[in-house]
Amino acid sequence: MKAMQVKSPGGAFELVNIEKPEPGPGEVRLKVHACGICHSDAFVKEGQYPGIEYPRIPGHEVVGIIDETGEGGEKWDKGQRVGVGWHGGHCFNCAPCREGDFILCERAKIAGISYDGGYAEYMVAPQEAIAFIPEELKAVDAAPLLCAGITTYNALRNTDAKAGDLVAVQGIGGLGHLGLQYAQQMGFETVAISRGTDKKELSENLGADHYIDAKAQDVAEALQELGGAKAILATAPSSAAIESVIGGLGTNGQLLIVAATPDTFSVSPFALIGKRASIKGWPSGTAKDSEATLNFSALGDIRPKTETYPLEQANEAYERMIKNEARFRVVLTVEG
Ligand SMILES: [Zn+2]
Ligand SMILES: [Zn+2]
Repeated sequence: MKAMQVKSPGGAFELVNIEKPEPGPGEVRLKVHACGICHSDAFVKEGQYPGIEYPRIPGHEVVGIIDETGEGGEKWDKGQRVGVGWHGGHCFNCAPCREGDFILCERAKIAGISYDGGYAEYMVAPQEAIAFIPEELKAVDAAPLLCAGITTYNALRNTDAKAGDLVAVQGIGGLGHLGLQYAQQMGFETVAISRGTDKKELSENLGADHYIDAKAQDVAEALQELGGAKAILATAPSSAAIESVIGGLGTNGQLLIVAATPDTFSVSPFALIGKRASIKGWPSGTAKDSEATLNFSALGDIRPKTETYPLEQANEAYERMIKNEARFRVVLTVEG
């Protein structure tokens, strides 16, 4: 099969022709139709994640058809259209798993990092990492929902915000343009926060009731004028941007951090204590959460804005993503 492989940290994606992987016990094999390119694929390309073995095929936004199942697989059948996201499997035996909190598994596997991912014609994944894909969604639309979609949807649906509450999405990019659509469909009074006015019209088209230009306005003040946010979804990987929104939290407001930035940020305890506000990180979700994301997207007509490239052009496609030029998610399509 054809695959785009990273041979060593810092190397390019190289087109290779290798043996089709065979599914082991409890695993399934997908014939890949589409695979999204996520910012986290930089972990593989640049060697920024501990313990990655090379060569490695990245890709954790994978949609395909099951073409083979390993021994002991009861749940899935050949011919089913399914996907694999960031959460690529769990051990069932560690403390979080025994509590049923599989996303926090101490030995969690990550698709395209712990094992080969979807920049390929075929990939193998553990059955617990497989999500069913509703018919209404095309492969190129479903793929980004398996990481960018689930992360924003799952974070938003687990806040204390209720329909009608003020919810802000900071950063209107790959994650934020989906977060806005989810927030609007969940019934929140939705605020888009971005720098400049470039994304104002788009944000309003995606469902924003208000737009805050972070270049021209004090974001915290603007949010307080709207009554204070019950939840703010921070999607831009910028500590300065995260700091600037904390003062915009309302009573019991929650700041949800889904953008992974290695930089630290500071926060005044006064901004939290008086309002009983909190700051929380949110990891993506399990395969079941992926299914909830996909079903909600199909119901609410929520789609990512995508640019597509054939598998062989993974290098060009990745460049678009890493230079922040793509509007908004880049997806590789696989022929055949
Ligand atoms: Zn991702
Ligand atoms: Zn576990």
